[in-house]
Amino acid sequence: MKEILSNLNIVGGGLIGAALAYSLSKLGNNIVVLEQKPKFDHKKFLDKRTTAISEGTKNFLEEISIWNEIKYHVEPIKKIQIIDRNQSNKIYFDNQRRNSNLGYIVKNEFILDALYKKLQKQRNVKIFNNVSVKDIFYEGSRIVTKQNNFTVNSNLLLASDGKNSSIRKILRTPIYSKDYKKKAIVINFYHSKSHQNTAYEFFFKNGPLAILPMQKNKNSFQSSIVWTNTNEFINSLISLDDNKIMSIINEKIKGSIGELKKIITKQTFPLSAHLNSKFFENRIIYIGDSAHSFHPIAGQGWNLGMQDVESLYNLVKKYNSLGIELGDEIFCKEFQKNNFFKAYRLYQITDKVDSVFKLDNAIFNHARFSTINLIEKSKKLKNKISDFAMGVN
Ligand SMILES: Cc1cc2nc3c(=O)[nH]c(=O)nc-3n(C[C@H](O)[C@H](O)[C@H](O)COP(=O)(O)OP(=O)(O)OC[C@H]3O[C@@H](n4cnc5c(N)ncnc54)[C@H](O)[C@@H]3O)c2cc1C
Repeated sequence: MKEILSNLNIVGGGLIGAALAYSLSKLGNNIVVLEQKPKFDHKKFLDKRTTAISEGTKNFLEEISIWNEIKYHVEPIKKIQIIDRNQSNKIYFDNQRRNSNLGYIVKNEFILDALYKKLQKQRNVKIFNNVSVKDIFYEGSRIVTKQNNFTVNSNLLLASDGKNSSIRKILRTPIYSKDYKKKAIVINFYHSKSHQNTAYEFFFKNGPLAILPMQKNKNSFQSSIVWTNTNEFINSLISLDDNKIMSIINEKIKGSIGELKKIITKQTFPLSAHLNSKFFENRIIYIGDSAHSFHPIAGQGWNLGMQDVESLYNLVKKYNSLGIELGDEIFCKEFQKNNFFKAYRLYQITDKVDSVFKLDNAIFNHARFSTINLIEKSKKLKNKISDFAMGVN
C-alpha cells in the first residue's frame, strides 16, 4: 500500500479544513488534506447558506491574505435590531462606537472558492478527494491514517471533519450533545425595500428568525432568512408553494425590508449542538465543528472554528520558530488550554438564549421585557454584547 509522508494530515476540507490548510501552508508545513467529497466546484456547490463573518475573523482572514478575495462578495452589517415577539420590545446596535462594521454576510460558496483557488497554488499542499479514513494507528511518534488504497503518515492529525466526525467515532472521544428537535430553514430571496445594512433577529416562542442583509444582485435587494422552528412546522413550511411561504414570512417580519418578492433558494438543516470532552487525543487535534457545534442563534459556529484555526496557526508559528516538532502532548494540551473554555462558554450562551426566548408565561414574559429594556438603556451592556458578537472581546 502506498504511504504518503507529511507534517500535517488534515481530515475534512470544508469551511474550517480549507482555511486551516491554507493558513498552515503559509508557515511552510507539508500538508495532506483528505476530503470525502469530490473536488470543490463552485458551480456544483449545493450549500446555499450565508455566513455572518465577525470582525475578529475578518482580521485573521486579512492576516492570511484571504480577505482580499472575499471582500467583493460581502455585505457589511452596520446595524442590528433584536425584536421580541411583541414587536414593541427592541434592542438596537450600531457600529458607531468602534467605527467598524458589526459583521459581514457572504455566501459560503465564495469563502470556499477563495480558499480553494489559493490552495491550488500552494506546492506544499496535496489534496485527495473522494477519500475517507478507515483506520488510525501509531508508529512511534507518528500517526498514520489508512484509506482504501493508501496511508498518510504524519506528526499531527487535524480532524476538521465536521460535527459527525468519523475521527472522533474511530477514537471514541466522548462528547456532550443536545438534539434541539428543531430545524432551521434557510431562504435566500429578493425583497422590495433596501435592508439598509441592517440584520434583524425576531425572537418567537418556537425559535428565532434572522434576516441577514446580502449584496444586491443587479438591481434587486437580496437577503437571507434563517428561521428556527419545530421539525413539524419547518417540514410543513417547506412543502408549501413559494407564494404561500412568502406570505407567511411577510406576516412575521412586518415590513422591515418591505415584502418578499421571489424565493431564490430554500434548504433545511436539523439543529443540534455538542462539545467534545476534550479537543485532543494522542497526536490529534479536533478543530471547528468536529470539536464543537452550536445552535445557530448567534451565527458564531464558523467564527469560533476560525478562532481555533488562528490559535493553531500561532502555536505552529511558535513551535516552528523554536525548531520543535509539532504534535506532542504539550503542543496538544496548549491548544486545548487556549480553546476549550471559549467553546464551552459559547455552548452555554447559545443554549441559554434559546431557552429564555422559548419561555412563555406572564412571569417570564415580564422578566424578558425588563431585561431587553435594561440592555437597550445600558451602553455598557450593549458594548459588551456587540464586542462578543464581533469576536473582538
Ligand atoms: C443554518 C445554519 C446557519 C449557520 N450560520 C452561521 C453563521 O452565520 N456564522 C457562523 O460563524 N457559523 C454559522 N453556522 C455554523 C457553520 O456552518 C459551521 O460551524 C461550519 O460550517 C463548520 O465548518 P467545518 O469545516 O468544521 O465543518 P463542515 O462544514 O461540516 O465540513 C466538514 C468537512 O469534512 C468532510 N468530511 C466529513 N467526514 C469526512 C471523512 N470521514 N473523511 C474526509 N472528509 C470528511 C465533509 O465532506 C466536509 O467537507 C451555521 C450553521 C447552520 C446549521
